[in-house]
Amino acid sequence: MDFTLTEEQKLLKKNIGDFARRELAPLVREIDEKEGFSWEIWHKLASIGLPGLAGPEEYGGAGVDSLLTQTMVIEEIARHDFSSAANVVSNWSIMNLLTVGNEGQKDRYLRPLCIGEAVGAFAQTEPNAGSDVASMRATARLVDGHYIINGEKVFITQAGEAEFTIVMARTSNEKGTNGISALLVDKDAPGFILGKKEAKLGFRGSTTRSLAFDDCRIPASNLLGEEGKGFKTAMKMLTGGRVITAAQALGQAQAALDASVNYAKERPQFGKPIGSFQLIQGMLADMAVQIESARLLTYYAAWLKDNDQPFNIYASMAKTLATDVAMKAAVDAVQIFGGYGFMRDYPVEKIMRNVKITQIYEGTNQIQRLIIARELLGEKGSFREMYGHNKT
Ligand SMILES: Cc1cc2nc3c(=O)[nH]c(=O)nc-3n(C[C@H](O)[C@H](O)[C@H](O)COP(=O)(O)OP(=O)(O)OC[C@H]3O[C@@H](n4cnc5c(N)ncnc54)[C@H](O)[C@@H]3O)c2cc1C
Repeated sequence: MDFTLTEEQKLLKKNIGDFARRELAPLVREIDEKEGFSWEIWHKLASIGLPGLAGPEEYGGAGVDSLLTQTMVIEEIARHDFSSAANVVSNWSIMNLLTVGNEGQKDRYLRPLCIGEAVGAFAQTEPNAGSDVASMRATARLVDGHYIINGEKVFITQAGEAEFTIVMARTSNEKGTNGISALLVDKDAPGFILGKKEAKLGFRGSTTRSLAFDDCRIPASNLLGEEGKGFKTAMKMLTGGRVITAAQALGQAQAALDASVNYAKERPQFGKPIGSFQLIQGMLADMAVQIESARLLTYYAAWLKDNDQPFNIYASMAKTLATDVAMKAAVDAVQIFGGYGFMRDYPVEKIMRNVKITQIYEGTNQIQRLIIARELLGEKGSFREMYGHNKT
């Protein structure tokens, strides 16, 4: 196997790493304490083209469509600021969904996202339909050239900041996922109601709100893609998203290791730096082994996608391993820092609080394990069963 990075990848990794260290890292504490999406930071990210990096060139993006390159970029940002990395990922996912739209929709909704002028939101989760997405109840009825949407969504990233929301709702009573469609809802659509802003454990540089739809009326032309195909489109987007979620976790895990190594060299106890104690060395070594293993699996999953090979099971494996490894690394980093690790003045408690979300969103790690097992067993509904690939 060839592990050599292309010149473009090396350059992007270096430039984005330098940018994140210089421009984002000093703001991490402020971002965490202010709680909410920062347009100032978003414009900073836009100044180097990050929101649109993965977007199509004809709509103002940079056209970097390699998942491996995207993975490395997100890892570099997340190494210095988790929220910015996760916000960029959210933007890329929404841009990805918009690529199934028609030219008019792409011009209106995709272009502003590519150039960093606006953000969008994606509303799938409901109070009673989280992991069990297919049980969603929100409805969209076609009446006189308009869809009338009713229902409720929760935990929606960037709700309140977003110009529009891609809302998943049932357009037919057909059971299961074939009755679910994706709809573009502008922020000023009648009957579109913003819920309260959530106070969160981590990922606090984003705004999270619930949404309600009370006979919310949108033109029928705001259907995104084909009626009844919304769920399948979203699931395809989520598969790539899992690899990028692994990248968010990896960046934070690396930050936990970097901070721990530095601290272990500097902190004296019993007359020696704590890094000279074998129990501390063991923790550092385990962190390094696990992070490197997770990185290899994540890059492999991305490489499979880039080479048009089935990667579903690897995306789930990468997401599970990288996010579990990152959580363990963050907890161990706090341990290595001792009491200082528990203090907000030090970086590692924020890593611990941020990384927790990577085990929950984009499909919880329990759901990833179910996907992996289903693929192994070739069960109904598995990627293998649906698309007939032998190697998944
Ligand atoms: C900060 C944040 C941002 C988010 N952003 C968005 C967004 O922008 N858009 C959006 O639509 N959603 C978003 N979400 C929602 C997120 O995707 C869901 O929280 C997630 O899918 C889990 O759903 P749930 O919270 O309802 O948990 P549940 O599905 O109720 O799960 C609870 C627990 O049960 C486990 N579990 C569930 N089913 C099974 C099973 N079959 N077998 C074993 N264990 C199981 C889960 O793994 C979990 O541990 C966000 C969530 C958060 C916290």
